[in-house]
Amino acid sequence: MKRIKKTKIIATLGPSSSSSERIEKLIKEGVDVLRINFSHSSHKEAGILIKEIRKLNQKLSTNTSILADLQGPKLRIGEIKSKVTLIVGNKIKIKTGKKFTGDDKMIFVNYQSLPSDINIGEKILIDDGKIILKVLDSNTIDEISAEIIQGGDLLSNKGFNLPNTDISQPALTEKDIEDAMFSAKQEVDWIALSFVRHESDIKSLIKLLEKNTKHRIPVIAKIEKPEGVKNIDDIMKHASGIMVARGDLGVEINAAEVPLIQKKLVNKAKKARIPVIIATQMMESMMDSLNPNRAEVNDVANSVMDGADAVMLSGETSVGKHPVEVIQTISKIISKVENSNLISLKHKHPTDYDSERFITKSVCFYAAKIANDTNAKAISTLTNSGYTAYQISSWRPKTHVLVFTSNRKILTQLSLLWGVKAFYYSGTESTDKTVEEINKIALESNYLQKNDKVVNLTSMPIDKKGMVNTVRVSKI
Ligand code: PGA
Ligand code: MN
Repeated sequence: MKRIKKTKIIATLGPSSSSSERIEKLIKEGVDVLRINFSHSSHKEAGILIKEIRKLNQKLSTNTSILADLQGPKLRIGEIKSKVTLIVGNKIKIKTGKKFTGDDKMIFVNYQSLPSDINIGEKILIDDGKIILKVLDSNTIDEISAEIIQGGDLLSNKGFNLPNTDISQPALTEKDIEDAMFSAKQEVDWIALSFVRHESDIKSLIKLLEKNTKHRIPVIAKIEKPEGVKNIDDIMKHASGIMVARGDLGVEINAAEVPLIQKKLVNKAKKARIPVIIATQMMESMMDSLNPNRAEVNDVANSVMDGADAVMLSGETSVGKHPVEVIQTISKIISKVENSNLISLKHKHPTDYDSERFITKSVCFYAAKIANDTNAKAISTLTNSGYTAYQISSWRPKTHVLVFTSNRKILTQLSLLWGVKAFYYSGTESTDKTVEEINKIALESNYLQKNDKVVNLTSMPIDKKGMVNTVRVSKI
């Protein structure tokens, strides 16, 4: 059987990876999803990238997915003069209001109500915690002063985190609303929201999208604040996927807590049967070097073993020196570990007996079990909404999950899901004919070989296009 990896790779686009040739290489080396980060990308740049990705999908016959990432209430300092170093023990003023170029005495931050939200003694972390300040005083209007607890070089536009402060910023800033509307118009496959704290944050994005799109665009909650971790069960009632955003999470919460939070979030996502992404610093040293360090290799491997649907690269592919080598390396690590017998996710039959989709859920659960027990080489499913792909994928069968759909919108969306490969198929003649044709496509695309067993999921009667209710095991 063709060895195609099942764990998906998300690569963030940026100056190192924006040319068509580069994107093509990334896709060929194993990227499944491309992330456009609206913290750094203008609508004009994003529009060009989206066009380029779709052109490449046509050229390469791939289903590369597009993930638009909204900045959310991310706080940042303003421009800084060149070569500014903060010295421990010195004081510094932080001002809101009009933007200005800062130095070692005074800096700007894009957070109007900082002086009234913050309390004396609270900590401020700049540049992922490389610089730490302690609040000394606030005029409660437009200026605070702070002591430098941990110094270092200060660079323009770096992140500004307030782990102890209850931030009054809205979940969707004006910029997010504009970026979300733009992304909706472009019909991207996924939209992620940063710094999700409450279920209402996700609900307001979903509502905005519903008002402005014909097609439903699934939403990913980026978990990177203590409140997001605390409210995860409520957030997951509305999110179509979650991201363990370890960059900001490790600053907002003690970094030593992140590994267990990662495991907890993966387990919860798998139970809810929605995809989970592990993000940030996975191959960080490859920003400069041609090889990852040992700890990074282990981190990627362990994320796969935990049950991640996808691993995400940020600086490594957007501004790093070796974006293509990063993808080659991470693909290799994934392929080495993902088929190991040491990985075992707990399988338990769904228990929501009264839900509308219960029969489909049960059929998907047993399809994964039958595939493993009969040593089948693939599971195929017919779907219009993609629902069964989410279900089967989450049971992590030993086989690939081949999805056949006449809904072109979900071909690219499903590329984020573990083990899922989607094909366009529009036949509705008869179930026998459909299974025959589907198996032929699977054979021709090397997912199956002669004499292999395959588990086919269908909905009978076929012309009703109803929910999946039938399992059939066939031999090729
Ligand atoms: P970011 O999110 O790259 O948008 O900050 C990921 C993270 O914080 O880990
Ligand atoms: Mn973040």
